[in-house]
Amino acid sequence: MSQENKVDSRQIAGLLDRQLIAWPLLKNNYALFEKVQIKKLSVGGVDIIVQFNPSRIVSAGAKVDAKSISERKCFLCPGNLPPEQEAVAFGSDYLVLCNPFPIFPQHFTVPTRRHVDQSILGRFEDMLDLTRALNSFTVFYNGPRSGASAPDHMHFQIVTRQYMPIDHLDITQLKRIHKGKETELYLLANYLRNGWVISSKDKSEALSCFTRLCQKTGTPAGEVEPMMNIFCNYHEGQWIIKVIPRKKHRPSQYFAEGDDKFLTSPGAADIGGAFITSREEDFNKVTPDLLRDIYEQVCFSNDEILVCL
Ligand SMILES: [Zn+2]
Repeated sequence: MSQENKVDSRQIAGLLDRQLIAWPLLKNNYALFEKVQIKKLSVGGVDIIVQFNPSRIVSAGAKVDAKSISERKCFLCPGNLPPEQEAVAFGSDYLVLCNPFPIFPQHFTVPTRRHVDQSILGRFEDMLDLTRALNSFTVFYNGPRSGASAPDHMHFQIVTRQYMPIDHLDITQLKRIHKGKETELYLLANYLRNGWVISSKDKSEALSCFTRLCQKTGTPAGEVEPMMNIFCNYHEGQWIIKVIPRKKHRPSQYFAEGDDKFLTSPGAADIGGAFITSREEDFNKVTPDLLRDIYEQVCFSNDEILVCL
C-alpha cells in the first residue's frame, strides 16, 4: 500500500455529497433508501434489523456461478463504470466508489483497479490500511462464495459505522482465547453468526492471527480460501476485526418454490445483522424462527466454532 495515500473519512463523505448532486440514479436510490421499511427482531436475545429494500432484488438473486459471471460485463472494472461515477484513489491499487444501490446511509465499494478474483489472501493488510485511513466507517469483506456479487473482481465495502448490530458487540463480554503482545483473540459464540474477534494494535500480529484462523477453519474443496465475511473497525490505535466463517452461501429457502421460497443470498450486511429482504412477501413473513433457521444453515454452530480451535 502506497505511503502517499492521504484519503480520510472526510474526503469519502465529500465524495458522496458530490455524487448525490452529480449522479441522478444515485440521488434517486438514496432517496428510496431513506424510505425503506425496517423492523427489529430479537432472535433469542440477538438483535437483527430486517430491511425491505426492493432495489436489491438484482443482488439477492444474482447468478454468481462461473459461467454467468464470465458472460456479463464486470460492473467494477474502471472501463465499465457509468460516466457519472467519480472515483477516489486509495493507494495505487484501489478506487473508492459510491455504491449506487445503497443498503446503508453511506455505502461505498472499493474495487481494485485491475480485474482480479475476489480473495482476502494477500490483501488482509490492505483491509487494515483502509480501515485505519477511513476510521469513521466500518469496512467489510465478502468472500467470493459468501455474498460477493462480483466474485471475479476484488473489492471491499465501506459503510456507516454502527448501523449493523455487529458493530455494537461489546468484546469485553466475550471469552478471550489467546493473548499475544499487542493482539487478543476472542470467541464469538451464542450469536447466530459465530466466529472470532481479533483486537490488535499491530498489523503483522493481526495478520498472523488471521492466517492461523484461516488454517483452522479450512478451505473447502475447489475454493482458494475459507468461506467467510470479515468486518473491521479502527479506533484509538486498535483494530477490531470480526471474522465470521461460513458453511454455505445460500439457505434451502432460496431454492424452494411457492410459499416456502425466501429470496436471500446472505452477505456481510445480513451476517452483520442488517438483514436485507428485496421482496415484500419475504419482509412480511420473516420471523425470528425463520432467521434462526437461515443463520444456522449458513453459519457455524457453537460446537462447530469450538472444533476449529
Ligand atoms: Zn472487473
